[in-house]
Formats: sequence, C-alpha cells, structure tokens
Amino acid sequence: MSAPGAGSGVVVVGGGQAGFSVVQALRGAGYEGPVTVFADEPRLPYQRPPLSKKAHTEPEGLGVDLVPESFYRERDIDLRLGEYVAALDTAARAVTTGSGERVPYEHLVLATGARNRPLPVPGADLDGVHALRSLDDALSIGRALQTPRDVVVVGGGFIGLELAQVARARGARVTVVELADRLLSRAVSPQLQEHLRERHERDGVRILTGTAVERIEGKDGQVHQVLTDQGPLPADLVVYGIGAAPRDELAREAGLAVDDGVIVDEQLRSVSDPRISAVGDCARHPHPHADGLIRLESVQNAIDQGALVGRRIAGGAAGPYESLPWFWSDQGPVKLQIAGLRASTDEVRVVPGDTPERLASYAFRDERLVAVETLNWPAEHLAARRLLQQDPPVSPADLAGSTLGALARARRTKEVRA
Ligand code: ADP
Repeated sequence: MSAPGAGSGVVVVGGGQAGFSVVQALRGAGYEGPVTVFADEPRLPYQRPPLSKKAHTEPEGLGVDLVPESFYRERDIDLRLGEYVAALDTAARAVTTGSGERVPYEHLVLATGARNRPLPVPGADLDGVHALRSLDDALSIGRALQTPRDVVVVGGGFIGLELAQVARARGARVTVVELADRLLSRAVSPQLQEHLRERHERDGVRILTGTAVERIEGKDGQVHQVLTDQGPLPADLVVYGIGAAPRDELAREAGLAVDDGVIVDEQLRSVSDPRISAVGDCARHPHPHADGLIRLESVQNAIDQGALVGRRIAGGAAGPYESLPWFWSDQGPVKLQIAGLRASTDEVRVVPGDTPERLASYAFRDERLVAVETLNWPAEHLAARRLLQQDPPVSPADLAGSTLGALARARRTKEVRA
C-alpha cells in the first residue's frame, strides 16, 4: 500500500481572497503538483470589500472580480465552483465533498472564512431583512435600495456603518441601532469612536447606541417596522452586520485544535497536524505584535497569510507570519484606516490633521508606537505602515509636534545624508 495521499498535491478549501492568494503564490513560486480549490459559492473568487461600500444591481457595477477564469486554466488549477467539503479525514489525508467524492491531499489548506452571526430576534427571516457577506447579498441590497426608503441598520460596526452611508447616498432615511454604548467598539479606539459618530450624525445618519432590537414585524410577509427597547422604527429595509464567526467546523469535527478559529503556529500550520494549514478569517495565529493568539478579519491578512502558505508549500522561504496588520473602512465621507494592533490598555493620543476632515490617533505601549488610526488621511496611514515596521520604534517624544508623515520624511533625509 502506498502512503496515504502521497503525491496528491494541494487541496485548498475555500474560494475567497485567502484561498485565491494560496494558489496564486503556489504557482507563482513554481509549485508543479496538482492544485484543487473547493469553493462552495458557484462564482469565481471575488473581492468582498466593495460589497458594503457601493450599491449595485449587477455584479459588473461592483467590480469585484479578482482574475478571469483563464487564470486558473492557464495554471492548471482545478477550481471546483459550487462544491463544498463536508468532511476531513486527517489519518487518511483526504477530504470528502458534499457529493461524496473523496479527494486525497499531500497538503491541505483551510481558507474557509467566516460566517455572519445571525440576528437573534423574531422576524429576522422576513423579506426585506438582509445580512451581507456574498455578492448575491450585495445585489439584493442594491435592488432594495433603488428607491429611497426607511432603512434600519442593525450593528454599528464596520459593515453597518458602511451600509448606512451607502443607503444615505441613495437618499434613504437611515437609523443605525447598536447594542453597545459605542459604535465600532471592537476595533476602534474610544477617542475615534466619538469623532466617527459625530461625522455620521452630521451626515444625517441617526444613531441609537445602547439599543436592543426586540423583534422585526412585517406586513404581508415584508418587513414593516423594527421594535427596539427604545420604541418602534419604521423600516422597509433592514440590513444587519453584527459580527462574524469563523467557519472552523471542518477542522473541529476532524479533531484539530480549534478555539474560535483553527489554531495554527507561526508558520500557519495547524498545531495538531503539520500537513494542514489555515489562513485568513478562519485562522487563529500567533503574531509578534499581539499577546497570545489572534484572529484577524481583513483582506491584508487573507492575502499575506495565503501567500506565505503558498510559498512555504512550494518549497520557498518559510519565515514566520509577521506582516503588519492594516485595514480600511470607507464610510461615506469618512475613510478610516488602521495600521498595527491596538490593545485597550494602550495610551492613545489624538492629533488633528492639516484639514478639518483629517484626524489621526497614535497608540503607544511602553513608550513605543504600536498602532495608528487615521480619518481621511491616507498619507499618514502609509507613513504609519512604514514606520511601524522600522527600527528604531517611534516614541511619544518623536511625535511631539510632528506627524508620522513629517517624521518619515525627516528619517529619510537623515538616511540619505548618512
Ligand atoms: P461587522 O464586520 O459585522 O461589521 P463588527 O464586529 O465590526 O462586525 O461590528 C458588529 C457590531 O454589531 C458591534 O458594534 C456590536 O456591538 C454590534 N452588535 C452585536 N450584536 C448586536 C445586536 N443584536 N444588535 C445590535 N448591534 C449588535
């Protein structure tokens, strides 16, 4: 009997940004073995960030294609659209698809992403209540926004605030209902949460924080109003973005270590099985900028983790995963960008920009800069990304009366002179 799975190549589970990045890097680094990608959505892999930033009724309007079908054909990548993996047998090194096909692997990469947390109230299944994850979800919301309406957005996180502004731009009356006392409490400093709230309110978005949705009521099967603990809100469209959970059940059921994500080492290999890697939203990993393990839901993380694993399997350099985390969210007139990882105990200093729309916050830990948030200030964000990866670290004194942009320029001038 031959070794199980010997010579059977790489199987990638998941056709999102992270899965795409794996196969792009595999072939880019010269891997010549078989590559199979299982993508449960019956569409070519696409980008998700535009889905919550624009409203369209046709996919072309959203412009989300990553690469055309020929990319996969030319690289001999077996892209299995509309097929999902139902089970994983780590001992036999094989996966079983929903239709019962067994596919062996030499390396398996889990790039299964995350799924939306469902809205846990009666009426969440009425027509006119939408979550947003897939391109089809975005097109449904785009169709619903063709005529201005009363829109209730449940969840004042990134997705909720992006969609609130999309609906405003369509002329809708928009109310955001957020359960917590603050907007964006998961990932943005309290100092910037307040600024963002003011900017959205100035833009005509009504914001109710500390408010719980109790039920959604319909008329003739179509959403009609949202009942909250602060009273009823008229609604002919409800969209919700109340967070996501990793799709890690395949790994859990196979007995791999899982804890709100597939637990991997610094090379992004499952700590339970070195032939299995996990990348993107579904992976919980160590990071030099974090205490303990973290799970990141961002495009940067999906791309960089996929690339690292693809290169490693192809036999290339296999450094630890240490890419600087960065992120953006376009919320109508506000472009929020984040570089680095902030902890709640960091000291945050807010700095006004050179125009009223611009603002930055610098987070310091042990006298060194660890994270930077910016509003409408891309140059400062880019300087942050550069400086957060450079030695020496930036100290509070370096930034007294200076911006990161100015500091980066000064350091470059010094290097040129040296
Ligand atoms: P997403 O990527 O879906 O935007 P975030 O974590 O950025 O995820 O934001 C989700 C927001 O939803 C958080 O601000 C959280 O407090 C809020 N939230 C969670 N559950 C509810 C709920 N039942 N009703 C309203 N808001 C909620």
